[in-house]
Amino acid sequence: MQNLLELTAPTLAKFFEHIGEKPASVKMRAKQTLKWLHQSQVGDFSEMTDIAKTTRETLARHAEIRDLNAIKDSTASDGTRKWLFDVGTSAVDAVFIPEDDRGTLCISSQAGCALDCAFCSTGKQGFNRNLSTAEIIGQLRYANRALKADQGIVGRTPDGVQPITNVVMMGMGEPLANVDAVIPALELMLDDNAYGLSRRRVTVSTSGMVPQIDELSQRCPVALAVSLHAPNDALRDVLVPINKRYPIKELLAACNRYLAHAPRDFITFEYVMLDGVNDQPEHADQLIKIARQVPSKLNLIPFNPFPNSEFNKSPRERILAFQRRLSDAGIVTTIRKTRGDAIDAACGQLAGQIKDRTRRTIAIKPARASIDATSAQATNRSE
Ligand code: SAH
Ligand code: SF4
Repeated sequence: MQNLLELTAPTLAKFFEHIGEKPASVKMRAKQTLKWLHQSQVGDFSEMTDIAKTTRETLARHAEIRDLNAIKDSTASDGTRKWLFDVGTSAVDAVFIPEDDRGTLCISSQAGCALDCAFCSTGKQGFNRNLSTAEIIGQLRYANRALKADQGIVGRTPDGVQPITNVVMMGMGEPLANVDAVIPALELMLDDNAYGLSRRRVTVSTSGMVPQIDELSQRCPVALAVSLHAPNDALRDVLVPINKRYPIKELLAACNRYLAHAPRDFITFEYVMLDGVNDQPEHADQLIKIARQVPSKLNLIPFNPFPNSEFNKSPRERILAFQRRLSDAGIVTTIRKTRGDAIDAACGQLAGQIKDRTRRTIAIKPARASIDATSAQATNRSE
């Protein structure tokens, strides 16, 4: 059975051809189907009323609409909402962050992550598996439907106003380690017959996989955020181990190449503030030199602690002083507001604790010993 959520406009058209639709009408069918799936968010072929009944019956024989299954849905007092989705061998999160002028959905690209950054809770769990395109776009489809239902909207949103205006791939996993599933999902986010988001409002965040940054620039350029976190190779080798393969100089060159194709004229550098590790004046000075090599903005992220993490959050005054030093040198520097940490929805806090509970109630098997160990620790902690 083909899960239709896996398909983009061209692959849907091919699928219609495959199930016997006339070549002259496959593009039209693909367009209609995308609208039903991603704008009206229907869950059943019978609801696709502008498609002939016989075609719908053929579809039902060959295809399905397999949605994600949310096993937890929590809302923090600041309105941040987090869903935990069961993906069989593991569970992944998506987080909705409402603001006055936008609604941002932060989505996951992998269950776990193999890159093992020292300060990241996802990295500490180890890698479970890549998500499929259907599982990635499924997070957006699910959240869209849930948020519209809250507002009493069924089907398409009147006047095209969408609850989700921005998507950031900053949930669990390294999106550029899963480009073949991530790129079709990005294409659906951008497709006017699906979510119709502008390239500037879709952000991929990467820890710095240089060849895949180039690949993204060719296949589907969207806004790019790069997790820098250290202003020199010696420190970055420790904090972001992929740096040993793609050191800062190569990463900065890739950022400049990307900008020739990017929808925005700057790269966002993310920099997590770790107490006594990367938050000293000399780090700010090194960072100024780096930021001057690439048109960029800097986003300082207060470290979000998680159980057994070896780091502490930099004190507020130090973060402000760090920001001031950079701003005084002409580098546009913002401090990320921490949202949703009461529900473990803040950057780097995703999953972990919840997985064990999940496993007890619906018997999700962790695929790797390291994930099992994390879950076991979390069980001890939560009891
Ligand atoms: N793998 C990608 C995207 C997911 S992480 C990447 O690394 O860019 C999204 C952002 O959260 C990254 O900048 C990441 O470094 C940051 N992050 C990870 N753990 C964190 C923590 N404990 N506190 C604050 N930010 C964290
Ligand atoms: Fe993976 Fe990103 Fe976490 Fe590093 S920060 S371990 S790349 S999810």
